[in-house]
Amino acid sequence: MTLLIVGAGLSGAVIARKSAEKGYYCRVIDSRPHIAGNCHTQRDAGTGVMMHVYGPHIFHTDDADVWAYANRFAEFVPFLNRVKTTAQGAVYSLPVNLHTINQFFGRTMGPDEARAFIDSKADRSIENPRTFEEQALRFVGRELYEAFFKGYTEKQWGCLPSELPASILKRLPLRFNYDDNYFAHRFQGIPRDGYTAMVSAILDHPRITVELETAYNPAMAEAADHVFWSGPLDGFFDYRLGRLGYRTLDFERFTHDGDYQGCAVMNYGDPDVPWTRITEHKHFSPWENHQGSICYREYSRPAGDEDIPYYPIRLVKEKSLLARYVDLARAQDKTTFVGRLGTYRYLDMDVTIREALDTAAAFVASQTGGQAM
Ligand code: UDP
Repeated sequence: MTLLIVGAGLSGAVIARKSAEKGYYCRVIDSRPHIAGNCHTQRDAGTGVMMHVYGPHIFHTDDADVWAYANRFAEFVPFLNRVKTTAQGAVYSLPVNLHTINQFFGRTMGPDEARAFIDSKADRSIENPRTFEEQALRFVGRELYEAFFKGYTEKQWGCLPSELPASILKRLPLRFNYDDNYFAHRFQGIPRDGYTAMVSAILDHPRITVELETAYNPAMAEAADHVFWSGPLDGFFDYRLGRLGYRTLDFERFTHDGDYQGCAVMNYGDPDVPWTRITEHKHFSPWENHQGSICYREYSRPAGDEDIPYYPIRLVKEKSLLARYVDLARAQDKTTFVGRLGTYRYLDMDVTIREALDTAAAFVASQTGGQAM
């Protein structure tokens, strides 16, 4: 049996590998000139710095199977993301923790005192926060919200936080200790040789072929027994119901001799600074030594038709359009829609791998009369 897998990012690669190991021949195509989708990494020709070409990617998970799977294909170096933010003329630690709170309010509180203090700032009239703004006002109060979240979120999403769902802010913890590790997961790291090397190892199997700079056409699907589509869901249907909205990112690259900012990611909370954050790539590989430094200033804007889609917007309008595309997708027996673009959801890398493993397992089981993989 032959599978066509559209997209050589994490979803496509993991599905191809899992299927190939079960005896399927997998033709993987990608329209870009490289594998690994948006987690693609590449060494800068001048400095040798490993660049996270489409923005910062830190692998973090609580899923021991996914962690073991990723470690089969790459050597991971432990890495904790210690994000800083510049706001109102000072540099603070994120996610909001006891250091941030004490520094911001000029206090020396312990955890219990800080908890009571923040509680006194919280707007208790909001019982069930529905929007990003309500969630912030309910849990951190107005001052911290306006310093760290309001301006950043307006820049990132191009709308008011009162128009966004509370779930976006729920990605971030609020801590009453000095833990400044951005992610609260057990396993965290970055592949020593970058993500592209990892995805290349996943795709390295005698029953997998990869064709880059190759656009999909329906004849390819006809030649295959099944298709896994990790491209944009609306793109599969030629956008016939309209376009699902995305935010795209622009990276303004600049070089610096030595060390520019002393950390990998510096956010900018003030609304009058047009970029959301600056990433200094050499800090993603602290085990390497490079003379020069390459940084990206990151700007967010609505994606035009030709732009790379990054963040699915998923507001009310997009969700109703999504529901109609999902109906169309369900009627496609021969095609399974996978990944961030194929399902129009914001997925972390670990969830992407988990879903790809599960999707491949379910597919193989369906073909073999329900046998477990
Ligand atoms: N956010 C913010 N200020 C920050 C960092 C994040 O307001 O300094 C908000 C922003 O709306 C973002 C959301 O919190 O989309 C989730 O943050 P996360 O770091 O998970 O962003 P992502 O990984 O989606 O870029």
